[in-house]
Amino acid sequence: MEPAPFFVAGRPASSDDTVTVRHPYDGRVVGRTSTATADQVEAAVTAAVAVAGRAAALPAHARAAALDHVSRRLAERADEVARLITAENGKPIKWARAEVGRAVSTFRWAAEEARRFSGELQRLDTDPAATGRLALVRRAPRGPVLGIAPFNFPLNLVAHKVAPALAVGAPIVVKPAPATPLSALLLGELLAETELPAGMFSVLPLPNDRTAALVRDPRLPVVSFTGSGPVGADIRRAVPDKHVTLELGGNAAAVICEDWNGDEDLTWAAQRIATFSNYQAGQSCIAVQRVYVHEWLYDAFLPRLVAAVGALRQGDPSDEATDVGPLISEDAARRVEVWVDEAMAAGATQVVGGRREGACYPPTVLTGVPAGAKVTAEEIFGPVLVVEQVASDAAAFDAVNDSAYGLQAGVFTHRLDTAFAAHRTLQVGGVIVGDVPSYRADQMPYGGVKGSGVGREGVRSAMDDYTEPRVMVLTGL
Ligand code: NAD
Repeated sequence: MEPAPFFVAGRPASSDDTVTVRHPYDGRVVGRTSTATADQVEAAVTAAVAVAGRAAALPAHARAAALDHVSRRLAERADEVARLITAENGKPIKWARAEVGRAVSTFRWAAEEARRFSGELQRLDTDPAATGRLALVRRAPRGPVLGIAPFNFPLNLVAHKVAPALAVGAPIVVKPAPATPLSALLLGELLAETELPAGMFSVLPLPNDRTAALVRDPRLPVVSFTGSGPVGADIRRAVPDKHVTLELGGNAAAVICEDWNGDEDLTWAAQRIATFSNYQAGQSCIAVQRVYVHEWLYDAFLPRLVAAVGALRQGDPSDEATDVGPLISEDAARRVEVWVDEAMAAGATQVVGGRREGACYPPTVLTGVPAGAKVTAEEIFGPVLVVEQVASDAAAFDAVNDSAYGLQAGVFTHRLDTAFAAHRTLQVGGVIVGDVPSYRADQMPYGGVKGSGVGREGVRSAMDDYTEPRVMVLTGL
């Protein structure tokens, strides 16, 4: 198996330090690549700095054309890319296809935003002393971006770093997760087909200690990190003077409000919650982990949820019918097992569950979980759902807020006043009304509060983040 090249300043490269990528489901080797050497990292950073001025001056049509090209090519190669994602990440093929579709949109959206991104004209003559003056505010790239991506969306979360950077004309050095470099390298291949100037992008597989060193490199003033809380906190401490965006974890909650009554509503909510607590084996930062159900609906809701979770098929992720695949590793599945066992030893009831097999942990529903248990309080990042009944919608919102995290919340209600109350009250980056917290459209601002991060992603938000306003005042008009 030929090692896949990585990309240094837009050109394919390799080293003698080979990396083997294995399928999380059965451990077979699915690809190889190599780790960038210190000289190659230096070449990537030097080229990014050297091209920054030219990149910022690239016309919008050139930036948009490159982004459209990648979008089109991803769509053409969608089946192959989806299979690669499944092979390295273990997510069911249907979810891998969904991820490719989202990455196609992320690049297309970035192309459209690149055409629109213009700044603003501001009149200053509201003040008599500024009569005849006008401000032109354009957004200039802050400088080359370092993007660091997690394993759970190995293509689309790399796309969320790369596409907005290219849209604003900022060079980017991107570092995929160690377990899942292959789809990012394929993306590098498509970027290399474009007319972008050399140095605009590099895709570098690196171990964590060398990534930490790269974070501290003063020539990369913007760091966009998606990953776990502890690593995010380390980055923030290491570079307090840099512009850092942190997209971190969560323990997302859904609320079944008092008015969400009737068979159709409850069945639909149960199915959505079952699906989105288990998609990607729960390894999504906005997978449903907690459900708060109004007490008068609890007895009607729980059996529907149990049936919906029980209907999910776990197995080989390359099978089109599989709903739940393995976790990223056996270690990850063991950690989930330990947390669930701890909760049950402390008095929780397992209403759906089973035994771990290797990296596969079965979809699990717990009730009666004691306060403070890790399965509720920390990010489980596995296919485990905790269900609780509450006396009122307000009590449910308090329970949602009783968390160290705040990424998104799902609020099942038809009532406008309840939706507004949720939006006003919930300490999260996004409230999804009538659906699970796991909903994300790639163009909307996305990110969290509290331990879930700092700043927002989503194409337009990231473009704002990678740039800063630069004002020109015109006089004598
Ligand atoms: P992780 O923190 O282990 O790794 C993320 C990336 O950081 C990887 O590329 C890793 O190699 C790199 N890294 C690790 N140590 C580093 C260091 N000291 N310095 C610099 N880089 C370092 O996370 P993961 O296990 O790959 O991903 C899962 C986590 O990501 C979960 O907590 C999940 O909630 C979070 N996540 C958040 C979002 C979001 O948008 N908020 C989206 C997806 C995943």
